[in-house]
Amino acid sequence: MRDATRIVRAGAPAPEPGAPFLAGPTFASVYHLPGDPTGAPYQYGRYQNPTWTAFEAALEELEGGPTVLFASGMAATYALLQTTLGAGERVVLTGDGYYATRSVAAKHLGARGVDVCTAATEADLLEQLEGTRLVWVETPSNPALTVYDVRRIVEAAHAVGALVAVDNTTPTVGAQKPLALGADFSLASDTKALCGHSDVVLGHVSAADPERAAALRTWRIETGAIPGPMEVWLAHRSLGTLDVRLERMCANAQGVATFLAGRSDVVQVRYPGLATDPSHAVAQRQMSRYGPVVSFELGTAAAAQAFLSAATLVDEATSFGGLHTSGERRARWGGDAVAGGFIRLSLGCEALEDLLEDFEAALAGR
Ligand code: PLP
Repeated sequence: MRDATRIVRAGAPAPEPGAPFLAGPTFASVYHLPGDPTGAPYQYGRYQNPTWTAFEAALEELEGGPTVLFASGMAATYALLQTTLGAGERVVLTGDGYYATRSVAAKHLGARGVDVCTAATEADLLEQLEGTRLVWVETPSNPALTVYDVRRIVEAAHAVGALVAVDNTTPTVGAQKPLALGADFSLASDTKALCGHSDVVLGHVSAADPERAAALRTWRIETGAIPGPMEVWLAHRSLGTLDVRLERMCANAQGVATFLAGRSDVVQVRYPGLATDPSHAVAQRQMSRYGPVVSFELGTAAAAQAFLSAATLVDEATSFGGLHTSGERRARWGGDAVAGGFIRLSLGCEALEDLLEDFEAALAGR
């Protein structure tokens, strides 16, 4: 079966006459639990929930490994870091990814005596592997859009006994499959394209080794970093259209990146799908699509802000992967090593022709 079909049907219950295609969310903090509790699949709301079970089964089918949902991408990140690393061990993180991951690692793992290092390039990361317990690879990275060679990193990391976690948020499992590339963990903020409708905050980790998934599940029970059933149900309902959404979003990203790359007033256009992009070759080897995010620079912060204000089809917002095209001047937050005129653009599902007309006018200051 092809992935496009699997995505539509993943986690759906067996067809029963008179039953819905996807039952609604189960809102339960307690379950009837008479007598000896052994064997009851659902006992208490912080431990298990049938809505989680269905969506975790869907993601397991797509990711290729047992999956644990969390209340957000950061809850998933924190759980993975804390359950994998002990005092005296070292983690190396790619240095151009989501700044909150680096800062949470430095603050919380550093306080526990974990050696937290970042790598400026893939070569730098490979040089730091000896003695490392966990390698954290965000690819394509947000916002730099560097594509790291997962197979190459996995091979080198496993040779020295290190584990590899891939933050797969930007592409989602609909465009890149870290476990199939050999990684030990595939993590994502499902807040982004996986849910895709700008209405849910959620995260998950899929693990190649069921025992590591079990450790994450125990962490979730003990810390209470659980998602709400409504959010999980919305995510499951949204998953069914992931393939068609990605198809349109990635085609729009390719079209917009090509348009921007052809303009003399736009510089540093990055999109892994552009044949001229430094990451294109590796992206072609490991991704089935190049994702919805494009980045570029206008000369100054003021020029970037003027573009964002003039573009009627770019909603200024600090996220990506949604149905609506959105963008932001990333330097407005600090934290990322980007120029003042740097824009991260997330292409939505609108018609490409409308987007191009809008961008043309906004760049001309109309
Ligand atoms: N990982 C990446 C690459 C992200 O971009 C984000 C959020 O922007 C996260 C993790 C954290 O996800 P969440 O906002 O769902 O906690």
